[in-house]
Amino acid sequence: MKLKIETDQKLKKSDQKESKNEKKTRNEKTTAQKAQAGNTKEQSVLKNEKKSFKSKISDKAVSQFRQDPVTGDWVIIATGRAKRPEQFISKKKKEELKVDKADCPFDGDNLKKQRPDTLVYYRENGEWSLKVFPNLYPAVTRSKDLKHSQQGMYFLMDGVGYHEVIVTKDHDRGVPFLIKEEVAEVLDAFKTRYLELMNRKSVSYILFIENHGKESGASLIHPHWQMFAIPFVSSAIKLELEGSRIYKNNNDNCVYCDMIKQEIKDKKRIVASSDNFIAFTPFASRSAFEVWILPKKHQPYFERMTENDEFEAASVLKKVIEKYYWNLNDVSYNMYIHTSPCDGRDYSYYHWHIELLPKTAVWAGFELGTGIEISTIEPEKAAEFLRKKNN
Ligand SMILES: [Zn+2]
Ligand SMILES: [Zn+2]
Ligand SMILES: [Zn+2]
Repeated sequence: MKLKIETDQKLKKSDQKESKNEKKTRNEKTTAQKAQAGNTKEQSVLKNEKKSFKSKISDKAVSQFRQDPVTGDWVIIATGRAKRPEQFISKKKKEELKVDKADCPFDGDNLKKQRPDTLVYYRENGEWSLKVFPNLYPAVTRSKDLKHSQQGMYFLMDGVGYHEVIVTKDHDRGVPFLIKEEVAEVLDAFKTRYLELMNRKSVSYILFIENHGKESGASLIHPHWQMFAIPFVSSAIKLELEGSRIYKNNNDNCVYCDMIKQEIKDKKRIVASSDNFIAFTPFASRSAFEVWILPKKHQPYFERMTENDEFEAASVLKKVIEKYYWNLNDVSYNMYIHTSPCDGRDYSYYHWHIELLPKTAVWAGFELGTGIEISTIEPEKAAEFLRKKNN
Protein backbone atom coordinates (compact mmCIF):
# COMPACT_ATOMS: atom_id res chain seq x y z
CA MET A 1 0.00 0.00 0.00
CA LYS A 2 1.15 3.48 -0.74
CA LEU A 3 1.48 6.18 1.85
CA LYS A 4 1.21 9.83 1.03
CA ILE A 5 2.50 12.63 3.17
CA GLU A 6 1.55 16.21 2.53
CA THR A 7 3.54 19.00 4.10
CA ASP A 8 1.56 21.87 2.80
CA GLN A 9 -1.39 22.06 5.19
CA LYS A 10 -0.79 25.31 7.02
CA LEU A 11 -0.43 27.46 3.93
CA LYS A 12 -3.52 25.87 2.48
CA LYS A 13 -5.66 27.01 5.39
CA SER A 14 -4.63 30.65 5.31
CA ASP A 15 -5.00 30.78 1.58
CA GLN A 16 -8.37 29.12 1.44
CA LYS A 17 -9.92 31.49 3.92
CA GLU A 18 -9.55 34.30 1.45
CA SER A 19 -10.97 32.38 -1.44
CA LYS A 20 -14.14 31.21 0.33
CA ASN A 21 -16.55 33.65 -1.26
CA GLU A 22 -14.94 33.82 -4.62
CA LYS A 23 -15.08 30.12 -5.38
CA LYS A 24 -18.17 28.96 -3.59
CA THR A 25 -19.49 26.54 -6.18
CA ARG A 26 -16.41 24.41 -6.72
CA ASN A 27 -15.46 24.75 -3.04
CA GLU A 28 -18.61 22.94 -1.99
CA LYS A 29 -17.96 20.18 -4.45
CA THR A 30 -14.42 19.63 -3.29
CA THR A 31 -15.23 19.63 0.39
CA ALA A 32 -17.39 16.61 -0.23
CA GLN A 33 -14.70 15.14 -2.43
CA LYS A 34 -12.02 15.72 0.12
CA ALA A 35 -14.10 14.11 2.84
CA GLN A 36 -14.47 11.13 0.58
CA ALA A 37 -10.79 11.13 -0.23
CA GLY A 38 -9.93 11.28 3.46
CA ASN A 39 -11.40 7.84 3.99
CA THR A 40 -9.25 6.14 1.42
CA LYS A 41 -6.00 8.03 1.72
CA GLU A 42 -3.59 8.05 4.57
CA GLN A 43 -2.32 11.55 5.15
CA SER A 44 -0.36 13.18 7.92
CA VAL A 45 1.45 16.41 8.58
CA LEU A 46 5.16 16.60 9.17
CA LYS A 47 5.54 19.50 11.56
CA ASN A 48 9.23 20.13 11.13
CA GLU A 49 9.16 20.02 7.39
CA LYS A 50 6.19 22.31 7.33
CA LYS A 51 8.09 24.92 9.32
CA SER A 52 11.16 24.91 7.15
CA PHE A 53 9.00 24.90 4.06
CA LYS A 54 7.31 28.12 5.05
CA SER A 55 10.48 29.90 6.10
CA LYS A 56 12.20 29.14 2.82
CA ILE A 57 9.39 30.41 0.62
CA SER A 58 9.78 34.01 -0.34
CA ASP A 59 6.72 36.01 -1.25
CA LYS A 60 8.73 38.15 -3.59
CA ALA A 61 7.52 37.63 -7.12
CA VAL A 62 10.12 36.29 -9.54
CA SER A 63 8.03 36.97 -12.58
CA GLN A 64 5.42 39.24 -14.11
CA PHE A 65 2.28 38.52 -16.03
CA ARG A 66 1.78 40.99 -18.85
CA GLN A 67 -1.34 41.24 -20.94
CA ASP A 68 -1.35 41.57 -24.69
CA PRO A 69 -3.81 44.41 -25.36
CA VAL A 70 -4.85 42.92 -28.71
CA THR A 71 -5.54 39.26 -27.89
CA GLY A 72 -6.07 39.68 -24.14
CA ASP A 73 -3.62 36.82 -23.63
CA TRP A 74 -1.26 36.89 -20.65
CA VAL A 75 2.43 36.13 -21.00
CA ILE A 76 4.93 35.30 -18.25
CA ILE A 77 8.13 37.30 -18.04
CA ALA A 78 10.25 35.30 -15.62
CA THR A 79 12.45 38.06 -14.25
CA GLY A 80 13.74 35.84 -11.43
CA ARG A 81 15.55 33.60 -13.87
CA ALA A 82 16.50 36.57 -16.00
CA LYS A 83 19.37 36.12 -18.39
CA ARG A 84 21.70 38.83 -19.57
CA PRO A 85 20.95 39.77 -23.20
CA GLU A 86 24.37 38.37 -24.23
CA GLN A 87 23.28 34.91 -23.10
CA PHE A 88 20.78 34.80 -25.94
CA ILE A 89 23.45 35.13 -28.61
CA SER A 90 23.01 31.99 -30.63
CA LYS A 91 25.45 29.19 -29.87
CA LYS A 92 25.60 26.71 -32.69
CA LYS A 93 25.92 23.74 -30.36
CA LYS A 94 22.72 22.97 -28.47
CA GLU A 95 22.86 22.30 -24.75
CA GLU A 96 23.09 18.59 -24.10
CA LEU A 97 20.75 16.70 -21.83
CA LYS A 98 22.13 16.02 -18.37
CA VAL A 99 22.42 12.25 -18.45
CA ASP A 100 24.87 11.59 -15.62
CA LYS A 101 23.31 10.51 -12.36
CA ALA A 102 26.04 12.32 -10.39
CA ASP A 103 25.02 15.67 -11.95
CA CYS A 104 21.30 15.00 -11.63
CA PRO A 105 19.46 17.42 -9.30
CA PHE A 106 16.98 14.67 -8.39
CA ASP A 107 19.52 12.12 -7.10
CA GLY A 108 21.66 11.61 -4.01
CA ASP A 109 22.84 14.70 -2.16
CA ASN A 110 21.67 16.98 -4.96
CA LEU A 111 18.10 16.12 -4.03
CA LYS A 112 18.68 17.68 -0.60
CA LYS A 113 19.25 21.04 -2.29
CA GLN A 114 15.67 21.03 -3.59
CA ARG A 115 12.93 22.83 -1.71
CA PRO A 116 11.02 20.79 0.89
CA ASP A 117 8.51 18.31 -0.48
CA THR A 118 4.83 19.15 -0.74
CA LEU A 119 3.91 15.50 -1.28
CA VAL A 120 5.79 12.20 -0.97
CA TYR A 121 4.78 8.63 -1.76
CA TYR A 122 6.50 5.79 0.06
CA ARG A 123 6.81 2.09 -0.57
CA GLU A 124 6.14 -0.37 2.21
CA ASN A 125 9.89 -0.79 2.74
CA GLY A 126 10.10 2.90 3.70
CA GLU A 127 11.81 4.11 0.53
CA TRP A 128 10.23 7.00 -1.31
CA SER A 129 8.86 6.31 -4.78
CA LEU A 130 7.62 9.74 -5.87
CA LYS A 131 8.21 13.27 -4.62
CA VAL A 132 6.62 16.63 -5.37
CA PHE A 133 8.41 19.88 -4.50
CA PRO A 134 8.44 23.52 -5.61
CA ASN A 135 10.61 24.24 -8.65
CA LEU A 136 13.99 25.74 -7.69
CA TYR A 137 13.69 28.16 -10.61
CA PRO A 138 9.99 28.90 -10.60
CA ALA A 139 8.15 30.67 -13.40
CA VAL A 140 5.60 31.81 -10.80
CA THR A 141 5.71 32.12 -7.00
CA ARG A 142 3.14 31.73 -4.26
CA SER A 143 1.63 34.87 -2.81
CA LYS A 144 -1.56 35.73 -0.98
CA ASP A 145 -2.58 38.63 -3.17
CA LEU A 146 -2.74 39.34 -6.84
CA LYS A 147 -1.22 42.75 -7.36
CA HIS A 148 -2.50 44.35 -10.56
CA SER A 149 -0.99 47.47 -12.01
CA GLN A 150 -1.05 49.51 -15.17
CA GLN A 151 1.59 51.18 -17.29
CA GLY A 152 -0.27 53.53 -19.61
CA MET A 153 -2.45 51.29 -21.76
CA TYR A 154 -0.71 48.10 -20.55
CA PHE A 155 -1.85 45.81 -17.72
CA LEU A 156 0.46 43.69 -15.63
CA MET A 157 0.50 41.75 -12.37
CA ASP A 158 2.93 39.88 -10.15
CA GLY A 159 3.74 36.41 -11.40
CA VAL A 160 1.91 34.56 -8.64
CA GLY A 161 1.00 30.90 -8.58
CA TYR A 162 2.60 27.53 -7.90
CA HIS A 163 5.27 25.83 -9.97
CA GLU A 164 6.15 22.34 -8.74
CA VAL A 165 8.13 19.36 -9.96
CA ILE A 166 6.97 15.75 -9.71
CA VAL A 167 9.77 13.15 -9.83
CA THR A 168 9.85 9.38 -9.68
CA LYS A 169 12.78 7.77 -7.88
CA ASP A 170 14.83 6.05 -10.54
CA HIS A 171 17.10 8.22 -12.66
CA ASP A 172 16.96 6.18 -15.84
CA ARG A 173 13.63 4.39 -15.61
CA GLY A 174 11.25 6.44 -17.75
CA VAL A 175 7.56 5.76 -18.36
CA PRO A 176 8.11 2.76 -20.71
CA PHE A 177 10.01 1.04 -17.88
CA LEU A 178 7.76 1.99 -14.98
CA ILE A 179 5.07 -0.47 -13.95
CA LYS A 180 1.44 0.65 -14.46
CA GLU A 181 1.00 1.26 -10.73
CA GLU A 182 3.93 3.69 -10.76
CA VAL A 183 2.45 5.67 -13.66
CA ALA A 184 -0.90 5.68 -11.81
CA GLU A 185 0.95 7.12 -8.82
CA VAL A 186 2.08 10.05 -11.00
CA LEU A 187 -1.56 10.76 -11.96
CA ASP A 188 -2.60 10.35 -8.33
CA ALA A 189 0.03 12.94 -7.31
CA PHE A 190 -1.34 15.31 -9.98
CA LYS A 191 -4.85 14.87 -8.61
CA THR A 192 -3.77 15.30 -5.00
CA ARG A 193 -1.91 18.54 -5.71
CA TYR A 194 -4.83 19.72 -7.86
CA LEU A 195 -7.34 19.21 -5.03
CA GLU A 196 -4.95 20.96 -2.68
CA LEU A 197 -4.49 24.10 -4.77
CA MET A 198 -7.68 24.48 -6.82
CA ASN A 199 -9.51 26.65 -4.30
CA ARG A 200 -6.74 29.12 -3.66
CA LYS A 201 -7.36 32.71 -4.57
CA SER A 202 -4.44 32.99 -6.99
CA VAL A 203 -5.33 29.82 -8.90
CA SER A 204 -7.74 29.69 -11.85
CA TYR A 205 -6.01 27.06 -13.93
CA ILE A 206 -3.73 24.11 -13.10
CA LEU A 207 -1.68 22.59 -15.89
CA PHE A 208 0.38 19.39 -15.67
CA ILE A 209 3.04 18.82 -18.29
CA GLU A 210 5.88 16.54 -19.24
CA ASN A 211 8.73 17.56 -21.52
CA HIS A 212 10.53 14.45 -22.69
CA GLY A 213 13.75 14.54 -24.67
CA LYS A 214 16.04 17.34 -25.74
CA GLU A 215 13.88 18.61 -28.62
CA SER A 216 10.92 19.02 -26.26
CA GLY A 217 12.78 21.50 -24.09
CA ALA A 218 13.73 19.02 -21.35
CA SER A 219 17.15 19.51 -19.75
CA LEU A 220 17.26 16.31 -17.68
CA ILE A 221 16.74 12.65 -18.44
CA HIS A 222 15.49 11.87 -14.92
CA PRO A 223 11.72 11.27 -15.30
CA HIS A 224 9.90 14.37 -14.10
CA TRP A 225 6.69 16.29 -14.66
CA GLN A 226 5.73 19.86 -13.81
CA MET A 227 2.70 21.59 -12.39
CA PHE A 228 1.80 25.22 -13.08
CA ALA A 229 -1.06 26.71 -11.06
CA ILE A 230 -1.80 30.16 -12.47
CA PRO A 231 -4.38 32.94 -11.96
CA PHE A 232 -5.73 33.06 -15.52
CA VAL A 233 -7.03 30.81 -18.30
CA SER A 234 -4.95 30.99 -21.46
CA SER A 235 -6.44 31.48 -24.91
CA ALA A 236 -5.56 27.93 -26.07
CA ILE A 237 -7.76 26.56 -23.31
CA LYS A 238 -10.45 29.23 -23.79
CA LEU A 239 -10.66 28.24 -27.45
CA GLU A 240 -11.39 24.60 -26.52
CA LEU A 241 -13.88 25.62 -23.83
CA GLU A 242 -15.70 27.95 -26.21
CA GLY A 243 -15.74 25.38 -29.04
CA SER A 244 -17.14 22.75 -26.66
CA ARG A 245 -19.80 25.15 -25.37
CA ILE A 246 -20.94 26.12 -28.88
CA TYR A 247 -21.00 22.49 -30.09
CA LYS A 248 -23.07 21.51 -27.07
CA ASN A 249 -25.55 24.33 -27.77
CA ASN A 250 -25.89 23.34 -31.42
CA ASN A 251 -25.82 19.54 -31.11
CA ASP A 252 -27.01 18.95 -27.57
CA ASN A 253 -24.01 16.75 -26.93
CA CYS A 254 -20.35 16.96 -25.92
CA VAL A 255 -18.02 17.37 -28.90
CA TYR A 256 -15.43 15.04 -27.36
CA CYS A 257 -18.05 12.37 -26.56
CA ASP A 258 -19.22 12.52 -30.20
CA MET A 259 -15.60 12.34 -31.35
CA ILE A 260 -15.03 9.21 -29.24
CA LYS A 261 -18.16 7.59 -30.76
CA GLN A 262 -16.90 8.27 -34.29
CA GLU A 263 -13.35 7.08 -33.46
CA ILE A 264 -14.69 3.79 -32.06
CA LYS A 265 -16.78 3.37 -35.22
CA ASP A 266 -13.96 4.33 -37.63
CA LYS A 267 -11.27 2.36 -35.71
CA LYS A 268 -8.45 3.54 -38.00
CA ARG A 269 -7.12 6.31 -35.74
CA ILE A 270 -7.17 4.33 -32.48
CA VAL A 271 -3.73 3.74 -30.93
CA ALA A 272 -4.73 2.09 -27.64
CA SER A 273 -7.78 1.68 -25.43
CA SER A 274 -9.16 0.18 -22.24
CA ASP A 275 -12.70 -0.17 -20.85
CA ASN A 276 -12.90 3.49 -19.89
CA PHE A 277 -10.13 5.26 -21.83
CA ILE A 278 -9.24 5.69 -25.49
CA ALA A 279 -6.10 6.98 -27.26
CA PHE A 280 -6.25 8.09 -30.88
CA THR A 281 -4.51 10.33 -33.39
CA PRO A 282 -6.93 13.25 -33.80
CA PHE A 283 -8.64 13.56 -37.22
CA ALA A 284 -7.18 17.07 -37.53
CA SER A 285 -3.80 16.33 -35.94
CA ARG A 286 -1.68 19.46 -35.59
CA SER A 287 1.56 17.53 -35.72
CA ALA A 288 2.76 14.13 -36.89
CA PHE A 289 1.94 11.33 -34.41
CA GLU A 290 -0.07 13.60 -32.12
CA VAL A 291 -2.17 11.48 -29.73
CA TRP A 292 -5.09 12.37 -27.43
CA ILE A 293 -6.20 10.26 -24.49
CA LEU A 294 -9.73 10.73 -23.16
CA PRO A 295 -12.04 9.10 -20.64
CA LYS A 296 -14.76 7.40 -22.71
CA LYS A 297 -17.47 8.59 -20.34
CA HIS A 298 -18.17 12.31 -20.20
CA GLN A 299 -16.03 13.89 -17.47
CA PRO A 300 -15.24 17.64 -17.37
CA TYR A 301 -13.03 17.56 -14.29
CA PHE A 302 -9.70 15.70 -14.17
CA GLU A 303 -9.60 15.94 -10.38
CA ARG A 304 -12.73 13.80 -10.05
CA MET A 305 -11.00 10.73 -11.48
CA THR A 306 -11.58 7.58 -9.44
CA GLU A 307 -8.68 5.33 -8.43
CA ASN A 308 -9.71 2.88 -11.13
CA ASP A 309 -9.70 5.71 -13.70
CA GLU A 310 -6.20 6.68 -12.59
CA PHE A 311 -5.03 3.14 -13.19
CA GLU A 312 -6.69 2.87 -16.61
CA ALA A 313 -5.55 6.31 -17.75
CA ALA A 314 -2.03 5.40 -16.61
CA SER A 315 -1.98 2.12 -18.51
CA VAL A 316 -3.21 3.76 -21.74
CA LEU A 317 -0.74 6.64 -21.30
CA LYS A 318 2.06 4.13 -20.72
CA LYS A 319 1.04 2.24 -23.86
CA VAL A 320 1.18 5.39 -26.00
CA ILE A 321 4.57 6.43 -24.59
CA GLU A 322 5.86 2.88 -25.16
CA LYS A 323 4.81 3.24 -28.81
CA TYR A 324 6.76 6.50 -29.05
CA TYR A 325 9.73 4.77 -27.46
CA TRP A 326 9.82 1.59 -29.53
CA ASN A 327 8.21 2.64 -32.82
CA LEU A 328 9.64 6.16 -33.06
CA ASN A 329 13.01 5.55 -31.38
CA ASP A 330 12.25 7.40 -28.13
CA VAL A 331 11.02 10.52 -29.91
CA SER A 332 10.97 13.75 -27.88
CA TYR A 333 7.46 14.82 -26.94
CA ASN A 334 5.45 17.32 -24.92
CA MET A 335 2.55 16.01 -22.90
CA TYR A 336 -0.06 18.02 -21.04
CA ILE A 337 -3.45 17.63 -19.44
CA HIS A 338 -6.36 19.85 -20.46
CA THR A 339 -9.10 20.06 -17.88
CA SER A 340 -11.74 22.58 -16.80
CA PRO A 341 -10.49 25.76 -15.12
CA CYS A 342 -10.87 25.95 -11.33
CA ASP A 343 -12.22 29.49 -11.28
CA GLY A 344 -15.56 28.60 -9.72
CA ARG A 345 -17.50 28.59 -13.00
CA ASP A 346 -19.42 25.66 -14.44
CA TYR A 347 -17.73 23.77 -17.28
CA SER A 348 -19.99 20.73 -17.43
CA TYR A 349 -19.89 20.86 -21.26
CA TYR A 350 -16.10 20.27 -21.36
CA HIS A 351 -14.31 16.88 -21.41
CA TRP A 352 -10.84 16.56 -19.87
CA HIS A 353 -8.08 14.88 -21.86
CA ILE A 354 -4.34 14.31 -22.23
CA GLU A 355 -2.54 15.57 -25.35
CA LEU A 356 0.82 14.23 -26.54
CA LEU A 357 2.75 16.08 -29.22
CA PRO A 358 5.96 14.48 -30.51
CA LYS A 359 8.61 16.91 -31.60
CA THR A 360 9.19 15.78 -35.15
CA ALA A 361 9.48 19.20 -36.79
CA VAL A 362 10.97 22.57 -35.95
CA TRP A 363 8.44 25.38 -35.78
CA ALA A 364 9.37 27.88 -38.44
CA GLY A 365 7.80 31.09 -39.72
CA PHE A 366 4.58 29.57 -41.06
CA GLU A 367 3.98 27.56 -37.89
CA LEU A 368 4.60 30.51 -35.58
CA GLY A 369 2.64 32.92 -37.76
CA THR A 370 -0.42 30.69 -37.97
CA GLY A 371 -0.10 28.34 -35.01
CA ILE A 372 -0.48 25.48 -37.52
CA GLU A 373 2.17 22.85 -38.16
CA ILE A 374 2.35 21.42 -41.66
CA SER A 375 1.99 17.76 -40.73
CA THR A 376 3.66 15.38 -43.14
CA ILE A 377 1.82 12.15 -42.28
CA GLU A 378 -1.89 11.35 -42.31
CA PRO A 379 -3.22 10.69 -38.79
CA GLU A 380 -4.63 7.33 -40.01
CA LYS A 381 -1.17 6.21 -41.20
CA ALA A 382 0.41 7.51 -38.00
CA ALA A 383 -2.03 5.46 -35.89
CA GLU A 384 -1.39 2.36 -38.00
CA PHE A 385 2.35 2.78 -37.53
CA LEU A 386 2.02 3.29 -33.79
CA ARG A 387 -0.23 0.22 -33.42
CA LYS A 388 2.47 -2.02 -34.92
CA LYS A 389 4.32 -4.18 -32.42
CA ASN A 390 7.93 -3.17 -32.40
CA ASN A 391 9.23 -4.53 -29.11
ZN1 LIG B 1 18.40 11.57 -11.68
ZN1 LIG C 1 -17.83 14.46 -23.21
ZN1 LIG D 1 -6.97 20.06 -25.43
